Amino acid sequence: MAAKIHQTYLPSFSVPTSKPKRHSRLLTISASNTNRPSIAGRKLRAAVIGGGPAGSSAAEALASGGVETFLFERNPPSTPKPCGGAIPLCMLEEFNIPHHLIDRHVTQMRIFSPSNIAVDFGKTLKPNEFIAMLRREILDSFLRSRAQSAGATLVSGLVTSLDLPTTQTSPYTINYTTKSSSRNSLAVDVVIGADGANSRVAKSIDAGDYTCAIAFQERIKLSDEKMAYYENLAEMYIGDDVSPDFYAWVFPKCDHVAVGTGTVRSKHDIKLYQRAHPIPEHPRPVRVRGRVALVGDAAGYVTKCSGEGIYFAAKSGRMCGNAVVKASEGGERMINECDLRREYLKEWDAKYVNTFRFLDLLQRVFYGSNASREALVELCGNEYVQRMTFDSYLYKKLARGSACDDAKLFMNTIGSLVRCNDVGTHMKGLIL
Ligand SMILES: Cc1cc2nc3c(=O)[nH]c(=O)nc-3n(C[C@H](O)[C@H](O)[C@H](O)COP(=O)(O)OP(=O)(O)OC[C@H]3O[C@@H](n4cnc5c(N)ncnc54)[C@H](O)[C@@H]3O)c2cc1C
Repeated sequence: MAAKIHQTYLPSFSVPTSKPKRHSRLLTISASNTNRPSIAGRKLRAAVIGGGPAGSSAAEALASGGVETFLFERNPPSTPKPCGGAIPLCMLEEFNIPHHLIDRHVTQMRIFSPSNIAVDFGKTLKPNEFIAMLRREILDSFLRSRAQSAGATLVSGLVTSLDLPTTQTSPYTINYTTKSSSRNSLAVDVVIGADGANSRVAKSIDAGDYTCAIAFQERIKLSDEKMAYYENLAEMYIGDDVSPDFYAWVFPKCDHVAVGTGTVRSKHDIKLYQRAHPIPEHPRPVRVRGRVALVGDAAGYVTKCSGEGIYFAAKSGRMCGNAVVKASEGGERMINECDLRREYLKEWDAKYVNTFRFLDLLQRVFYGSNASREALVELCGNEYVQRMTFDSYLYKKLARGSACDDAKLFMNTIGSLVRCNDVGTHMKGLIL
C-alpha cells in the first residue's frame, strides 16, 4: 500500500479537548403521552447541535415540517470531517444528492488478506451500481445549505453547554460562543444532539458512554497517472500489519486518495503515531432523555465490520426530525420524552437493530485473528457472498438469499475458517 503513496495533503484535523460542564439534575418526565400543551402564539423551537450529515438532515426535516430550527456548527464549511466519504447508492436517491458532488464511482473493491492474497469484490454489480466516494466538506456543505434553504437558521458557533429545564415545558438553554462574542444563549423546547462521537449534548444528559474504535486518515495527492489506477478502484487491507482488529483503506477521490486505518484494541499504540478520531462501536445506553434526542455518531450509529456511519447519521437525523414534526403536529404543540421514544427510537430500532447485530457478529467471527481474516478474504471470492454483501450495503436492507445457497455458504464458511486456522497454526509453528 505504502509504495503507491507520496506527498501528504490536508493532514491536520482537530478534536475538542475541553471538558463539558456536567449537570447533576435530570428532569424526570411522566410516562403519559396525552396532555401535550399547545404553544400559544409561536412555533416549537428546536436546536440541532452539529452540522454533519446527522444534524443537517435533522434540521432540514424540522424546518420543512414547520418547527423553528437553529442548526449549530462550530467549524467553517471548508473544514472536512476526517472520513473515508464512501456512501451507499440508496443514499443518493433517498437524500437527493446530486451526482456532480461525487468524486469517484467505485465498482471494484480489492481486498488484500494478511498473506497478500487479493480478491476483487464487485463482480456481481449491475452496470448502474457503484459505491459513491465524496469529500466530506462537499457533502456536509451541501446538506447544511439545504437545511438553510428549508428555513433552518445556521448559527456558526461552538456550543459550550446545555442547561436543563426545571419543569416539563420550560426551555433548555443552549450556551455557545461565536467568533464575535464569547457568551451567547438561546432558549429552545427541543434539542437534537448531532455533535459526533465526543458529544457534549450526550454528556449534558448523562447518556452514558460507548466503546470507541479510533481511526486516522490522511489525504494523499497523486499524479493523474497514478490516479488512473484508482479510477474506479478502492482497496481494503486486513491483517495484523495494518490493524489488530480493523481494516485499512485506500479510497479514491478527485485528485487524491484517502488512506486510513483504525483499531479498538490498540488505541494507545495508534495514538502514539497519529492524531486519531473516534468511531462509536455501539449505541449509547441512553439516546433520548426529556426533550433531548441523540442522532448519528452522538447516538452511536456506526456499523461494526465496515465502520460505516454517514448514511445512518443522515437517516437517524431525518427520522428524528420527522418524529418531532409529527409529535408536535407541525410545530404547534409541546412534545415530551414519550413522543421521542415512540416516534423516533422505536422506529429506528425496528428498522436497523438486526443490521447492526449482524455486522457485530461478522466482526467477531472474522476480525479476531489473521487466520479468520484469511478466511474472510477467501469467502469474499464467492459470487453469492459478493451479491448478498453489495445488496445489503448499497440498498441498506438485509438481503434475502435462497435457503440452499445459504446452507452452502454456511458450510463454506466453516470450511474456510477451519482451513485458514490450520494454515495459521502451521505458519505460526514455522515462524516460532
Ligand atoms: C477516519 C474515519 C473514516 C470514516 N470513513 C467512513 C466512510 O468511508 N463511510 C462512512 O459511512 N462512514 C465513515 N466514517 C464514519 C462517519 O464519518 C461518521 O459516522 C459520520 O460522520 C457521523 O455523522 P454525524 O453527523 O453523526 O457526526 P459528524 O460527522 O462527526 O458531525 C458532527 C458535527 O458536529 C460539530 N460539532 C461537534 N461538537 C460541536 C459543538 N459543541 N458545537 C457546535 N458544533 C459541534 C462538528 O464540527 C461536526 O461538523 C469514518 C469515520 C472516521 C473517523
